[in-house]
Amino acid sequence: MSRVGTPTTSRDKTIGLWTQRSSHVKLREAHSSCRASIQHYQRENGGRDMIKTVGYAGQSATAPLDVFRFERREPGKNDVRIEILHCGVCHSDLHTARNEWKGTTYPVVPGHEIVGRVSQVGPGVKGFRRGDLAAVGCMVDSCRKCPDCMEGLEQYCRNEIIFTYNSPDRHIGGMTYGGYSDCIVVDERFVLRVPTNLDLPAVAPLLCAGITTYSPLRHWKVGKGSTVGVVGLGGLGHMAVKLANAFGANVVMFTTSPGKVADAKRLGAHEVVISKNSDEMRKQANRFDFILNTVAAPHDLDAFLNLLRRDGTMCMVGAPALPHPSPNVFNLIFGRRQLSGSLIGGIRETQEMLDFCGEHGIVSDIEQIPIQKINEAYERMLRSDVKYRFVIDTASLPKEK
Ligand code: NAP
Ligand code: ZN
Ligand code: ZN
Repeated sequence: MSRVGTPTTSRDKTIGLWTQRSSHVKLREAHSSCRASIQHYQRENGGRDMIKTVGYAGQSATAPLDVFRFERREPGKNDVRIEILHCGVCHSDLHTARNEWKGTTYPVVPGHEIVGRVSQVGPGVKGFRRGDLAAVGCMVDSCRKCPDCMEGLEQYCRNEIIFTYNSPDRHIGGMTYGGYSDCIVVDERFVLRVPTNLDLPAVAPLLCAGITTYSPLRHWKVGKGSTVGVVGLGGLGHMAVKLANAFGANVVMFTTSPGKVADAKRLGAHEVVISKNSDEMRKQANRFDFILNTVAAPHDLDAFLNLLRRDGTMCMVGAPALPHPSPNVFNLIFGRRQLSGSLIGGIRETQEMLDFCGEHGIVSDIEQIPIQKINEAYERMLRSDVKYRFVIDTASLPKEK
């Protein structure tokens, strides 16, 4: 029997992390109505001009990212226009640009670790002024009404979460375009304040890698007296080590890369385990209160579930394109262990995380790149060759609009 068109394989069933709330039909409609919507928007706004913007986009799952010119809306009443100075490069950008989660609409302009300077505000904006530093993370809007939004957990909005890229753009139609670009316009409710004492390019990764690790560490009350494992020393993993250490936990890093052992200790791990070494892994059994798994590829979860103590939790934040092999249920039953997941963090908690990082002098370890190196950076990310986050210097974008 033919299976063409029937989503029956596990790969087919993989749902795009950042697009799961948006049906494909909705995406297609949004895309095809783009031009008409821009014209409608201009009519509604007294024919106001759009903002000419230059960025880098992927035009298909296999095409390298390249220069892309597009338009953003002029700031409305509650909007903030930010001239983007730096944008971090998250593994989710790669998953989306290459359509690994399915649901990508092209062209796609990735980037959701954005810091910059405010150049314009709408008349209703209260919290930002021209010249302020400002940041934008993974979301630019949500329904604002559902119980999740009301609780400040917009990332779990049941109705309409609008991600910074690859979500339907409510204002001008088409899709939202992210931070691999020179400016962005966002409602102030989704704009964050940046501590002024930190190195600005190294703040950018806090907007995703920082909050994605801060939120579960806080939710599962990691602190003094906890023994915490962090799996995978990449962008998310290195922030998890720094934050868990700052919360006072005993931190054990699990890495597949022996070359990262010294770095893991410098970043704040008290012990480092090479996860490919089964003798070393066996010695870690039954000792962890909490394990944060940041790995971007499918792997054996049992190897880590075995390390939890009774009632311990392993939280998955890594979101590989293909599923992990199913864990052995006995590893959960014996020890009442829990396997869970977590998605970024709400706006209120993101601000709390930025303020915490300001107070404790915490930033990301970064390698700055010009935008022209983005495709090479993706390849290095796939080889686990990132120390520990690439950050794009947007001054390298072409000047002609
Ligand atoms: P990254 O910088 O590429 O780091 C991932 C790390 O995973 C690597 O450095 C490597 O660490 C380990 N790894 C990679 N391939 C592996 C393999 N085949 N086997 C074992 N370990 C492997 O990626 P990232 O930006 O931190 O993102 C990690 C994942 O989190 C991605 O899937 C991303 O989409 C997802 N994410 C989720 C959320 C959320 O809200 N849940 C938010 C952001 C990102 P070692 O060299 O130390 O082994
Ligand atoms: Zn991200
Ligand atoms: Zn909502």
